[in-house]
Amino acid sequence: MKYQMSKGYMDSPENLYFQNMTGTAVQERLKKNDIILIPIGSTEYHGMGQPYGEDTFLVTRMAEIVAKEKGCTISQPVWFGAHSWNQMGMPGTIVVPEDTFNAYLRAIFAGYWNAGFRKMILLNGHGQEYVIPNAIHMFQKATRVPCMFAFVNWPTVIAKYLRAKEFDVNDTQFDTAFRHADEVETSYAMALFGELNHKEQMEDTKNWPKKHVLSPKTIDLGGDVYQWPLPGHCTAGLGPLEVKQYPEGVVGYPTKADPKKAEEGLDVLIDFICKIHDEILEAYPAGKLPMEMTELSDAEPKLMDDLMKGPFKGGRSLYSYVYPV
Ligand SMILES: [Zn+2]
Repeated sequence: MKYQMSKGYMDSPENLYFQNMTGTAVQERLKKNDIILIPIGSTEYHGMGQPYGEDTFLVTRMAEIVAKEKGCTISQPVWFGAHSWNQMGMPGTIVVPEDTFNAYLRAIFAGYWNAGFRKMILLNGHGQEYVIPNAIHMFQKATRVPCMFAFVNWPTVIAKYLRAKEFDVNDTQFDTAFRHADEVETSYAMALFGELNHKEQMEDTKNWPKKHVLSPKTIDLGGDVYQWPLPGHCTAGLGPLEVKQYPEGVVGYPTKADPKKAEEGLDVLIDFICKIHDEILEAYPAGKLPMEMTELSDAEPKLMDDLMKGPFKGGRSLYSYVYPV
């Protein structure tokens, strides 16, 4: 592999994470790099041998590799997420309603904007890509301040590396489809945080549903990696509730997982996140933002100027102008 895997920095004094930094460290960081990576995960059952925080650790470990390379800052993760209908009721899966989750994300964006981190790369580790873009657009419309967002749903970035022989794909390392806590996801988890996965305890799905309402290759279940006609999250009620059909808490075959199967895809993924980081900073170096993209900058220049300065430098906080966002 091109990149060395991270050993975990969530409470390390190395200043990768915002929560571990002092005011001095943040002021210095903002002069050089004002990009913040926001890992957005979930807490959900991943079977007998994989951790409940799997979706969160996938994106914190990816973020740590990028931050080590590039010197940007990482937000502490969003630990609890939104869940689609088919995941309801699984013990250990903590379900945050979509409107609460959306509002919570907007509050996080507002807080980082007010702290001076106004370029945000969101890294999603869970099947909630149908909710997160709403939060971005609602934040932008409510505040009308300059802010840059890039939402990275990691499976989408490396879709072709996640496809399986099961669906007639030949140039792949995976035998079975990417769904949940399965061969694919567990291979990536083992590559990124092998110490939290226990192969000897893993169990595979025993009962695949005998009959689907729609024919194979119609609904794209699991990361939309095939680009079949109906994205998985655009359907409900056409397949089983996981708690009934897959009481193992996995949808697939984690016992087939192998961290080596994730190596090629991870290199491509980390390259991509580093690339968008660089393109953002090249276009707008630390402290610079696309002011022309906001209506407010034309309408009320004094207000915009004060908001951009912030309360520590003689200006105003975002909250003095809009709350809640
Ligand atoms: Zn997962």
